[in-house]
Amino acid sequence: MNKLEGIGVSPGIVTGEIFLLRNVISSIPSYLIEKSQLPGEIERFKRALIKTGNEIKEIQGKVKGEFRKEARIFDVHLLILKDKRMIREVIQRLREKRENVESAFAFVAQRFITAFSQIDADYLRERRFDIEDVSKRVLRNLLGVQCENLSQLKEKAVVIAHNLSPSETAGMSRDKVVAFATDIGGRTSHTAIMARALEIPAVVGLKDITSRVQNGDFIIIDGSMGSVIISPDEETLERYKKQQEDLLVVRRELSTLKDLPCQTKDGRRIKLRSNIELPEEIMHTPSYGAEGIGLYRTEFFYLNRQDLPGEEEQYISYKTAAEKTKPYPVIIRTLDIGGDKFASSFQVPTELNPFLGWRAIRFCLARTDIFKTQLRAILRASPFGNLKIMYPMISGVEELRKANLILEEAKAELETEKKDFDSNLEVGVMIETPSAAMTADILAREADFFSIGTNDLIQYSIAVDRINEKIAYLYEPAHPAILRLIEKIVEAAHKEKIWVEMCGEMAAEPSFALLLLGLEIDALSMSPFAIPEIKKIIRQVTFREAKEFAKKTFSFETTKEVTDYSRTFYREKGLLNE
Ligand code: PEP
Ligand code: MG
Repeated sequence: MNKLEGIGVSPGIVTGEIFLLRNVISSIPSYLIEKSQLPGEIERFKRALIKTGNEIKEIQGKVKGEFRKEARIFDVHLLILKDKRMIREVIQRLREKRENVESAFAFVAQRFITAFSQIDADYLRERRFDIEDVSKRVLRNLLGVQCENLSQLKEKAVVIAHNLSPSETAGMSRDKVVAFATDIGGRTSHTAIMARALEIPAVVGLKDITSRVQNGDFIIIDGSMGSVIISPDEETLERYKKQQEDLLVVRRELSTLKDLPCQTKDGRRIKLRSNIELPEEIMHTPSYGAEGIGLYRTEFFYLNRQDLPGEEEQYISYKTAAEKTKPYPVIIRTLDIGGDKFASSFQVPTELNPFLGWRAIRFCLARTDIFKTQLRAILRASPFGNLKIMYPMISGVEELRKANLILEEAKAELETEKKDFDSNLEVGVMIETPSAAMTADILAREADFFSIGTNDLIQYSIAVDRINEKIAYLYEPAHPAILRLIEKIVEAAHKEKIWVEMCGEMAAEPSFALLLLGLEIDALSMSPFAIPEIKKIIRQVTFREAKEFAKKTFSFETTKEVTDYSRTFYREKGLLNE
């Protein structure tokens, strides 16, 4: 038995057999061949290309139904595979250098990858990731290294991988992958956010789990506590099975709260909304009792495809979301590409400090064509429900003004075209940079609402990369600096009579519900399944108690004091599901 501690990113306890996703090629053999071996090497190359093509088509066929848009990336992969220049160069090198085909192919592929990395046009430069992906597949086939692929899963399994890429996630058969665990990643990484969206228990940041397990090993994944137990003994297994059953009972109990209002014992209301990563999720959120969608991430439109999403395509999706959610709001966040998000997708070049780089509103203000298309689509969908817009990564009021100018242009265009839109549509600002937090009083005069993005606010304020497991211990929402920033943001908003929601992961943490209530936040937005537990806590306390709790919390100097006090308070009041 071996217990490893990582970062629990998607709750739930699951037991099962391991499927180890081994897709790393450790070394490429290099040796000289005789002239007589040349036809054989060329033949091996051709066969590897055909096999790779078939593999890609198979995956594409499987992912098409559910993730149609994501499947388009495989068209690009097929084109790369057929690239005549690449094939010619490999054969030429085989002839001239007399080296084995793996070595010749790896050399040529690397040359293409380097050449693409140096291209100025962002879109073309980003294609190098696709070349990398395809060439790894070809190499695996040349080397006879089995290319494991989640869509090949025949039985239910717990997937263990170094990391999971967007294309691997898209290819995942959800009824087969019962949980996953990875070597790298943090709580707010893209993989983690996807796991919660798909409701698959997951633990990330386990450092070296891939080297500690074998296919078929039995494992327990505790996505709530962030631990995994490899080959558990009988007693441990029984204990976890009991916990698993208890968890189901708790979930069943929580589901009875669905239609009850989210208010304290003395009548203070706070709205609970859901965060959406994929349009399909909209169908599930009402079953958790969400009062609308507090964060509709729109990056998925732009992922894994060669072309840009058009206005019509986006309009239809926003219109559906508005219709399905009304009378509750849908807060659409404009494109937040960059950072850790989909670094392999186009338009955002690789940067030394991607989180401090060309992302979100900075990208949109530079690519106003893309931005305006999105704004027009949102505006056109606005008469069909209760839509709101918010801008990500605003660092100062000038950016808000610039974004609003483009919004005004979009409105003027639609007026000329006699297309309907809601002229009172609210426009909010995400407060996720320290500079926005410090100038919240200024921003509040020009915004209709704030949404606090703690995932980024914490990483920028404490200077701690949100996806780096080595420094995850520093990533602390309870840090007194973060609490002070939140207090300041809420005060600034309320002074200007605008409302504030929080849509970062902190909003989903039961241990902060009381504090955020006491700080007078108006709405919390989170993964839908987290809603019932937060509602339960809020319904068990009074607003007065929450205010006193918040006040006391502010008297502490360290994160530990804050968390210790909170734990004791929750325990004494019986607010924890233990
Ligand atoms: C945040 O930063 O808290 C947030 C909600 O945005 P994202 O996680 O998409 O960066
Ligand atoms: Mg953010």
